[in-house]
Order: sequence, then C-alpha cells, then structure tokens
Amino acid sequence: MDLDALAALLRRSRRAVVMTGAGISTESGLPDFRSPTGLWSGTNPAEILSLRAFYSDPERFFRFYRDTLAPWRNARPNAAHRALAALERAGLIRAVITQNIDSLHQAAGSQRVIELHGNLRQATCPRCGKFYPIVAVDDALAAGRLPRCADCSDLIKPDVVLFDENLPERAVADAIAEADAADLMLVVGSSLTVGPANQLPGLVLANGHPVVLINLGPTMYDQTATAVLAAPAGQALPRLCAVLGLNPRSELA
Ligand code: ZN
Repeated sequence: MDLDALAALLRRSRRAVVMTGAGISTESGLPDFRSPTGLWSGTNPAEILSLRAFYSDPERFFRFYRDTLAPWRNARPNAAHRALAALERAGLIRAVITQNIDSLHQAAGSQRVIELHGNLRQATCPRCGKFYPIVAVDDALAAGRLPRCADCSDLIKPDVVLFDENLPERAVADAIAEADAADLMLVVGSSLTVGPANQLPGLVLANGHPVVLINLGPTMYDQTATAVLAAPAGQALPRLCAVLGLNPRSELA
C-alpha cells in the first residue's frame, strides 16, 4: 500500500483512529523506552520506575525524574504530531490513542488524546488519588524536599503509569471503545510489545476493518496487518497530509 491508497482508505472511513507509541516522538529527540538503543538498553526499568522502587528509594526515583523525565517537557512536537492534528481537524480521524507520556500530541493541537500511560503534566497521590499540577513535584524537589500530598502527607508522584501499576481504567475503556467502533486503525511508531495497547489492532481486525502500520522495525502484527509502511512517521504522515490536501501547522509555535 502506498500513501495514495492510504489516503483513499482514510477518505472512505468514518471512524478512523490512530494509535501511537514512542517511535513518533523519537524525531522530537525523546528516547524510545524499549528499542535496543533506547533509554532502557542495559538497565532494568522496573528497578527505578516501579511503585515498589518509588516507595523504597524515593530519592533515586526523583533523581531519575529530575534528570531524565522532567526535561522531556521541553520537547517540541514534530511533523508527525502536527500531521495527526491536521487529520483530526479535517475530520479524518476521531482520536489518538497514545502510549506516550510526553503530551506532544496536545502540543501539536490534537484534541481527543487518550493517554494509556499517563502524562508528565500532573502529579498524583497513589494513596488518596488527589491530583496536583506537576509543578508541585518540581517545587518540592527544588526546595530539597520530597513532594508530599497536602491531604494525606504520603509521597506524590508524576502521573505516569509505573511498570508495576495498572493502566488508568478510564483511558483503557475509552481506547477499547474507540478501537471497537473504528473502521480503520493507523498504528504509528509503536512496536506493539506492550499490552493492552497491542490488543487494540487485533480488535479492529477481528471486526473486519483494516489496520495500517507506519513503523520502522518489526511488530507482532506485520503478518496480519492490512498493510505495513516502513517509513519514519515524520516523513510519511506529512506526505499523507499533502496527498489529502491538508496543511499541518504548529498550533503553539
Ligand atoms: Zn494523598
């Protein structure tokens, strides 16, 4: 399948959804958690980014947050993020389901974004569930303190899903509903190794609808997907927009 055929497929669809993974943000300079050259190559992420580690060694957890995760908030959306926002504005896709925590879809102008793994915009208290703006974490760390909940005084953490935590129920339910209703799914930059996100394309296929992968590198759906476009998202999606006569722009530039 080429981009002309994909554009035709998009035009014919009524309920297309997109699912994205780390591969869409590598062109914004963010590391891929799981690729061989990614952030976690040679280390076990669960050693730091788990609820168990968060409670047993919060200083180390927050050092990692401050040095590695917090700087992600300076990243800028790239051409692929902007292209997806343009597709949504044009009414060609209904939603973006993302495994990313970097908020770059929203920064590019996407409106309906379902975040399966949380985000770095806010913090939350694992004990009582209260939410805080992420600045509550940053201010505490800058003052040399660990961030604590104003209500229950337990530690609060960035609102990202840690390796031993469940995904947010609401986001999972929304993602399943979108996938179940979809008549086309575009998977961009996800190796589809992590559940339950990797089950969503299967749901679309089982409903008899096409799934198209835009991804560099193998996935478990390479044989069953309707089509695979082995191309960088930052090239393929803007070209797709051009074929469709759309002009992506940066919302916040
Ligand atoms: Zn609390």
